[in-house]
Amino acid sequence: MIVEYEVGDEKVFLLRRIVEIRFKKDIYEKLLKKYPKEYIISFSDRKRILHHTTGRELIYITKESGIPLLGHSAFGLIDRGTNLIQIRPITGCNLNCIFCSVDEGRKSVTKVTDFIIDPDYMIDWIKRVSEFKGKGVEAHIDGQAEPFLYPYIIELIEKMREIKEIEIISVQTNGTLLNEKMIDELEGKMDRINLSISALDEELANKIYGCKYPLKKVIEVAESIANSKIDLLIAPVWLPGINDREIEKIVEFALEIGAGKRYPPLGIQKYIPYRGGRKLKNIMTFKEFYDKLRDLEKEYGVKLILKPKDFGIERRDRYPSPITRGDIISSRIISNGRNKGEKITVAKGRVISVITNKKVGEYVKYRIIRSKDGIFVGEEI
Ligand code: SF4
Repeated sequence: MIVEYEVGDEKVFLLRRIVEIRFKKDIYEKLLKKYPKEYIISFSDRKRILHHTTGRELIYITKESGIPLLGHSAFGLIDRGTNLIQIRPITGCNLNCIFCSVDEGRKSVTKVTDFIIDPDYMIDWIKRVSEFKGKGVEAHIDGQAEPFLYPYIIELIEKMREIKEIEIISVQTNGTLLNEKMIDELEGKMDRINLSISALDEELANKIYGCKYPLKKVIEVAESIANSKIDLLIAPVWLPGINDREIEKIVEFALEIGAGKRYPPLGIQKYIPYRGGRKLKNIMTFKEFYDKLRDLEKEYGVKLILKPKDFGIERRDRYPSPITRGDIISSRIISNGRNKGEKITVAKGRVISVITNKKVGEYVKYRIIRSKDGIFVGEEI
């Protein structure tokens, strides 16, 4: 599935609607005299690979890349010491939410690189961590991304289904890329879809999502999921002073369409400003947030204050971590990092983000300044 077109002085090949391979037209034409097109696309060094949705450099991670899939917050796997494993096969998002905790989308001012992982390589690591965790694992596909941008998502889910330790497969999505056909395809493979809908008013939705948001389509997607065997959890983010009036409408909508079969129908989230995320002026305290949820629980007779056990999440040993805070390491820079001023390096079988201005290919000496939940950040010393 390759689409080809030209933009300015570049020849562009678009693979699976996500990977853009770009050549300077004159270079491409010279190469074409010597090699077949497929060979040039696969092996030529003189190309740029971009994420079609975000327009950023895209790094394709395979087994051969030597990049492990534990250690980074944006791609690979995250183990926070429970029976839930977060699965992050791609970065990049088609929306630009004003509350985005990771500043995603084309309007991002902090992200400079995207990553996509080969599905077979992803499965190798998912197997490894699932076997360590034991029975009753939930594989939750989420990320600094819209997961349905991942072109191998169905293949990934089908292969995860074959891992005997994985009992539940769930996904966190904005729903804009789903449709009835895909929901049919996911039935029997996916157990739960957490769908983020934060407004039912079109104008407000466009403002909150930072783009022309397909509200009608997402409402239809929610209804189709509710009518399928897949569990639906509607997950709005409460943005004080912005979508207060929408929250009640969303609660009513979720109850009306029959969201929540085995799990609760709603997972209302509190807006929290994160470092590196988009900031809003108004912030609720946790007390205010839980008081409001309690009032809504009384009014609608639905459970809104949720605990991990509502999803069958329990504590489990963490996959062993060979790196601790304060460690001093020297290793070679493998690629640009996710954020400006960051690079990717590998040491002790883990991927590490290092804050440095050194270039790809150079060695960097750094101190680990973050080592939490198996995610590592180093600072050059
Ligand atoms: S859908 Fe999620 S990842 Fe995408 S911009 Fe919104 S909050 Fe960020």
